Amino acid sequence: MSKKKFIRQREQREKKRVARERVERLFTLAERVYAYEPALANRYVEIALAVQQKAKIRMPRKWKRRYCRKCHSFLVPGKNAAVRLRSKPYPHVVVKCLNCGHIMRYPYLREQKERRKRQSSE
Ligand SMILES: [Zn+2]
Repeated sequence: MSKKKFIRQREQREKKRVARERVERLFTLAERVYAYEPALANRYVEIALAVQQKAKIRMPRKWKRRYCRKCHSFLVPGKNAAVRLRSKPYPHVVVKCLNCGHIMRYPYLREQKERRKRQSSE
C-alpha cells in the first residue's frame, strides 16, 4: 500500500469518527430540547442526517428509530410517536410518526441474531 493511500484512509477513518461523534451529540441535544422546543429538536435531526449522509456512516442503532424517515421529526415514544410490538408475520416494532402518519417497521429478532453473530465473531 502506498503511503499516500494509507494517509487518505486514515483521514477517511478520522472523518467518519468525527461524523459519528457529531451525530451522537446532535441527537443527544435533540432529546434534551424536545420537551420545550420540538422545532429545534427537528432541526438537530436534519443536521445529524446531513452529517451522516455526507460522511456515509450508518445511523447508530440507538438513534435509528428516533426520527421519522419521511418528515425527519425527532420522535419521542408516547409524545409524537406510537410504538407497538407485533409478532406477525414476523416479530417487529411498529413506530408511527404522529406528525405525518408515516409508519416504520423494524424487525427485532433478526437484529438480535445479527448482533449475536457479530459478537461471537469478534
Ligand atoms: Zn413523520
